[in-house]
Amino acid sequence: MPSSLFVLLTVITLALGLAVWLGTAPLLLHRRRNRLRRQPFPQAWRRILRRRVPLVQRLPADLQLRLKQDIQVFLAEKPIIGCAGLTVTDEMRVTLAAQACLPLLGARRGYYPSLKQILLYPGAFVVDRPHTGGAGVLSEQRRALSGESWAQGQVLLSWRDVLTGAADPDDGHNVVIHEFAHQLDQAKGFANGAPALATRVAYARWSRVMQSEFDALHARLARGEEGVIDAYGATDPAEFFAVTSELFFERPLALAQAHPLLYEQLSQYYRLQPLSW
Ligand SMILES: [Zn+2]
Repeated sequence: MPSSLFVLLTVITLALGLAVWLGTAPLLLHRRRNRLRRQPFPQAWRRILRRRVPLVQRLPADLQLRLKQDIQVFLAEKPIIGCAGLTVTDEMRVTLAAQACLPLLGARRGYYPSLKQILLYPGAFVVDRPHTGGAGVLSEQRRALSGESWAQGQVLLSWRDVLTGAADPDDGHNVVIHEFAHQLDQAKGFANGAPALATRVAYARWSRVMQSEFDALHARLARGEEGVIDAYGATDPAEFFAVTSELFFERPLALAQAHPLLYEQLSQYYRLQPLSW
């Protein structure tokens, strides 16, 4: 066979293979996830949720079921890697995954498609990097690096903070919700406090409400007044979205009373009503 013909046949075979793969990959993924969702949720994992993530008990029955299904998919797809000598246990995996899946409960947005892995440290961690806080990296230094979210597929978390964040579901502080809100925001490649929305009208409303609430927070801090939203939210619009997401899930009543328009925007985005839980 002439070598040019061989090359041509090889190219055609590869192209056909690629076309078939592109056509079937989403279907295969869909089937695999459905299989994972249908698996019985292990009893030991139920006990971990009861003991470690009290917020789950408050969810309506349909959302509890969906969360458990999401946890199965999340843990099957996202490796959690122990760092600084930490051995990752099921207790850590389930406690982390339950909180990471909360922002996905209402709107189906895939399972953080660009997230490749989670690095879990025993406690607060310090990462040596030439350009700390550089492009696409959001660090939570207020908690001595309790968490960090990278646009390039990585979330770093301190297990101690994952645990304490879950233990009190009413204090409005939850590093897992915070970092995974950044992941939603960073899905477009960078974080600016405006996650993907369906329409241009939705973007216009989002930016109007968020800007006015962000400005109001700055004004309140300048006056030295106390309020519902943590001062850390004033850092930039990306932090504002992450900090108010923590409040949305953990202090919905306080948020809705003090900032009804902000609560409504977050409720529309997450397609959830934590006020009713
Ligand atoms: Zn942050």
